[in-house]
Amino acid sequence: MAKRKKKKGKTQGALVKVSRVHFPEEASLPWLPMLLDAYYIADKGIALEISKRLKAGQTLACKKGCSSCCATHTTIPVYPLEVVGIYWYVIEKLVGPERERVKNQLANFGEGKPCPFLVDGACIIHPVRPLACRHFNVFNKPCEPGEDPYYTRRQDVLNPNERYKERALAAMLPFHGIREPSEKKRMAKAGALNSMVKNLHEIDWQNLAKRMDGQIVEKRSVG
Ligand code: SF4
Ligand code: SF4
Repeated sequence: MAKRKKKKGKTQGALVKVSRVHFPEEASLPWLPMLLDAYYIADKGIALEISKRLKAGQTLACKKGCSSCCATHTTIPVYPLEVVGIYWYVIEKLVGPERERVKNQLANFGEGKPCPFLVDGACIIHPVRPLACRHFNVFNKPCEPGEDPYYTRRQDVLNPNERYKERALAAMLPFHGIREPSEKKRMAKAGALNSMVKNLHEIDWQNLAKRMDGQIVEKRSVG
């Protein structure tokens, strides 16, 4: 049977449309397209899995303004390139009163506080939010305050598409010097980045707050 030609930029079978974010700085920052490509690949996998659930009659509970998860979850894994992306975005892209809000939240961030990037019920770093946040999608009803549906109703939580997740991680590997396609595939499958994962809530965000002020901080300044 003849195969239908894949349309560029579309994920076959997905009802949810995704597009890749672009920034002009990609021309001068070699790591940035790696990160944005990784997010685009992950988003396509997420769109595919969400579409399957929608086709099965479920409703996606996640929507703009719904954000109790960002206050409840305290173990959010982030990869090294993601931390670099967050630093860059916060320093270079945030402007106006929101920049000041985030700076204060970062400077005063500590145990028991909501994610420092949550501002008025929205993710202020949305284009570069971590893979973990992208992958966490809940169906049928919004989370109660303090509820983590992964434990209360696991069946309502989206299962990430492992193939796309691996491809997204492989897209980050050139940042770590791994460029050869078969090596990237092998290393991503083997979980090469697992030992480098940090918990978003345990990162020293005060450093980022200082960097927003243009202060020189210690060399270990990212993360
Ligand atoms: S995970 Fe829960 S709280 Fe977060 S956006 Fe989805 S439904 Fe809302
Ligand atoms: S990074 Fe954004 S999406 Fe993730 S927990 Fe923080 S505010 Fe929520």
